[in-house]
Amino acid sequence: MSRIFLISFNTCDYPHEVYPLGLAVVAAALERAGHDIHIYDYLVAGHNDNDLIAAVEKYQPEFICASIRNLDDDVDSSRQTDNREKFTRFGHLLQKARSLVSAPVIIGGAAFSLMPEVLLDLTDADYGIVGEGEKAICRLIVELQNNEKPDRIIYTFESLIPGPEIKGGYYHDSLVRYYYERSGFINIQTKRGCSFRCAYCTYPGLEGCSFRYRDTKEVIDEISRLKKDLGCNRFFFTDSIFNDPAGHYREVAEGIIAEKLDIQWTAYFTPYCMEKADILLCKMAGLYAVELGTDAACSTTLAGLNKMFDWEDVVRANDIVTHADLACAHFVVFGGPDETYQTVEEGIQNCRQLQKCVVIGNTGIRIYYGTSIYGRAQSEGIVDKDTSLLESVYYFSPEVQKDRVDEMITRGWQRQSHLVFPAEKGKMISQAMKKMYNFKGLLWDKIPLSA
Ligand code: SF4
Repeated sequence: MSRIFLISFNTCDYPHEVYPLGLAVVAAALERAGHDIHIYDYLVAGHNDNDLIAAVEKYQPEFICASIRNLDDDVDSSRQTDNREKFTRFGHLLQKARSLVSAPVIIGGAAFSLMPEVLLDLTDADYGIVGEGEKAICRLIVELQNNEKPDRIIYTFESLIPGPEIKGGYYHDSLVRYYYERSGFINIQTKRGCSFRCAYCTYPGLEGCSFRYRDTKEVIDEISRLKKDLGCNRFFFTDSIFNDPAGHYREVAEGIIAEKLDIQWTAYFTPYCMEKADILLCKMAGLYAVELGTDAACSTTLAGLNKMFDWEDVVRANDIVTHADLACAHFVVFGGPDETYQTVEEGIQNCRQLQKCVVIGNTGIRIYYGTSIYGRAQSEGIVDKDTSLLESVYYFSPEVQKDRVDEMITRGWQRQSHLVFPAEKGKMISQAMKKMYNFKGLLWDKIPLSA
C-alpha cells in the first residue's frame, strides 16, 4: 500500500466547472488496489500554489500523480494562446513538490495524451501515461515499488480496457458538492470511444475508435448512489456522443426508468440516425436538454468535416428534439474544410431557419496532432511539421478570410437572440447569468428564443 497524492490541474471553468472524472476514475482504481489516496483540485483551491505545496508536504506521499485535462482554457480563434507558460508553471510546482517529499511524479490526462513528449519535457515529470490511466497507473506503481525500470512514457492504446471492465469514478463528498453547486450537474460516463471519424476530433485518438460500453447496471447503481448519498439529481453524460448507432443508450435510459431514479440529465447527441421514439424514451428517463454536435452549417462543410449526416438530417433532428419539448442547442463552426463565402451565406440562412433552438457559432477549428484536419492543414500550408500545437493554432479554409466571415455572421444573425456569435459572446452571457441570477447548468437553455 502506498500514499498517493493526486492533483487535478484543470484551470478551465467554461462553459461550466466539470468534475475531474478522468482523475476520479484513476483514484478509484488506486483505492481498489489498496492504496491510500488524496485528491487535490487546483481549480477548487483557487489556483493557489502555496496551498498545493503545503498540502503535499502535509500528506507526505510516496507518489505524486497529476492530471492535465485541457490544453487551452479558451476557444477563441482570434487569439493564439501559447500554453507553454502555463505548463512550465505546473512543472515548477511538481518539481518543488517532488523535492520536498522525494516522490516520483507521474502525469497523465487528455491534454497530456495529445502531446506527451512535449509536456513531459516541459513539466520534467518522471513518468507519463498516455490514454486511459487506471490500469496503467496501478501497474506502474507496482513496478516502481519493485525497483523495476519502466519506460518513461507508457502508451495504453494497444490494451484498451474492455467496456464492461470500465469502472466509475471516485466521487468525493466535498468535491461533488463544489462542482454540483456551481455547474448544477455531475458528470458520468456510460461508455468510452467513438466510431465516427470527424476531421478535427481527438476523441477516437484518446479513447479508441469504437464504442466500449460500461456495464449498464453499474452505471445505474452509480447514479443511484450519487443521488442517495450525495443528493445529486442532475447529471451530464459526458460520453463522446450519447446516442450511439448501435442503440446501447436505450438500455441506459430503460435502466433509469426501471429503477425509478427520477433524475434529470443531458448529453451530447449526434443528428445521425436520430429517431423520435428514442428521444421520447430518453425524455421519459429524465432527458431535459440536448446538445447537438452539429459542427457545421451546411451539407458541403459537414462533408468537409467528414460528418456522417447532412443538413437535412440536422433539421430533422432539430424537429424531433424540439417537438418533444426539449431544450436544444447546436454548436457550429464556420471556416472549416471546404468553406467558401457561398457556404458561409448558406450556413447563416440554414441556422436562421432552425426553429425553437439555440445555435452557438464560432469560427476556425483548433488543430490537434493525430486528426485528419492536421494532415489537411499541412497539405494546405497552414501548419508545417515544426509548428507547435501547444499554441492554439486554428484551421481556416484557404477560400475565406476570418474577418470577413465574422462580419457576415454578425450581420446575418443580428437581432436573433437565439443565434449566438461569436462564442465569446456566449461566454459573456453565461457569466452574466451566473453572476446576476445565480443560474446554473447549461445556461444556453436560458437564452430567450427569437420569435
Ligand atoms: S465529433 Fe463527436 S461524433 Fe465525431 S468523432 Fe468526435 S466524438 Fe465522435
